[in-house]
Amino acid sequence: MKTLPSNLIERSSNACELCGEHTESMTAYAIPPKNNDSIENEVALCSNCFNKISNADFSDLNYWRCLSGSIWSNVASVQTLSYKILSKLNTEDWAMEALESVSLDEAVINWANAEDELEASKVIHKDAYGVILESGDSVILTQNLNVKGANFIAPKGIVIRKIKLVADNAEQIEGKIEGDTIVILTKFVRKSTV
Ligand SMILES: [Zn+2]
Repeated sequence: MKTLPSNLIERSSNACELCGEHTESMTAYAIPPKNNDSIENEVALCSNCFNKISNADFSDLNYWRCLSGSIWSNVASVQTLSYKILSKLNTEDWAMEALESVSLDEAVINWANAEDELEASKVIHKDAYGVILESGDSVILTQNLNVKGANFIAPKGIVIRKIKLVADNAEQIEGKIEGDTIVILTKFVRKSTV
């Protein structure tokens, strides 16, 4: 939570840029995946809006009618956050009308969708038992592996230390066996705690 810097107080007139209210605590909210490094990324929020957004609580549909106004803001971050929330209220006709009434920059729409896309594209590596693996972990082979090219069999039970995750493939890790770095399938390993 970050309080409003002076330039954001000035832009927002110290009022919530979504609902227009002023509350005792006001927050400079950076819209993910952007950070609190510039007010271009931020929206000034009252404590009510901030709490609902940080708890992802969009159940009070009428509360968010203010977005039909804030979507017309000339500030890109305010438009982006309004768009993000309105898109979650897609059962409501007024919300869909608000979205259709305004023509938004592609950059605003891309920013509004960026967090969900990032989440969807995350590659998560799990061992044979569904335990999440991280770079630097040690794993134990759960079966004998024929190491192609190296002409030996890595025995079941061997510990492989300091694995690396293969970035774009959730089913593969890299580890060293007898000095050779080999690709190992995550379904043949178990995370080791030693
Ligand atoms: Zn508010």
